[in-house]
Amino acid sequence: MPEDHKDTAPRDTEASFGFARVAEGARQGLVNQVFSKVAPRYDLMNDLMSGGLHRLWKDELIGALAPPKGETPFALLDVAGGTGDVAFRFLDAAGRGGSAVICDISAEMMEAGKARAGGRRALEFVQANAENLPFEDRSFDAYTIAFGIRNVTHIDKVLCEAFRVLKPGGRFLCLEFSSVEMPLLDTLYDAYSLNAIPQLGQLVAGDAESYRYLVESIRRFPDQERFVQMIRDARFERVRYRNLTGGIAAIHAAWRL
Ligand code: SAM
Repeated sequence: MPEDHKDTAPRDTEASFGFARVAEGARQGLVNQVFSKVAPRYDLMNDLMSGGLHRLWKDELIGALAPPKGETPFALLDVAGGTGDVAFRFLDAAGRGGSAVICDISAEMMEAGKARAGGRRALEFVQANAENLPFEDRSFDAYTIAFGIRNVTHIDKVLCEAFRVLKPGGRFLCLEFSSVEMPLLDTLYDAYSLNAIPQLGQLVAGDAESYRYLVESIRRFPDQERFVQMIRDARFERVRYRNLTGGIAAIHAAWRL
């Protein structure tokens, strides 16, 4: 990762939006514009950009969660759940006791998700900001967030909310792009993502800018160890991470005890 692209301490009223600095209060609105634009092509672009890898990473996430089979009630909250990939996998893997809430700030992303939900039962969509969840304390057995947390303005608030809504004994699992930890792969990945992905966005979705933001926001996200510390700071315990594809993505897992 180029050193000049790493995040620096934000000034009081500013936040990073990709490589740009914007007023902190304006940032979420800009993120929402990105996802309302990309929603109709989001799933297709995910497959094209990652060559289908995102599917394997999401399978790994649900494998790590290992939801119970059978009638045991088990409630998942999938935050920034977008078009439903994680919640759908969870419901398909869990037993009849499994239920899922997809919570996302973007109505457009969830509309695309509703259209793909098929006949899945025990599934609910709730529009809300991950920084301020409309759920009771200690309501869920598991909390997942996939490729969502780097888009929020205050990661610390999101982690505190995750802790609050989880039951004691609940699992936190985050799948996010991370810092590539393999020499050569990091150079190739930088060249591919910073150049080819915005071009692909232009070609397929007529929108290079949104995809430039998505790629730049990856470079702004804390690396694996720094994110571990942020999760610990939110009072989670037994925090672990596992790199996927050389650190292109990582799964961070923790417990509310
Ligand atoms: N989890 C899905 C997946 O893995 O395919 C969607 C990931 S998509 C890259 C990021 C999602 O985060 C978008 O649906 C966006 O609307 C949502 N998002 C961004 N900021 C959010 C916030 N503050 N609260 C809740 N959702 C947010």
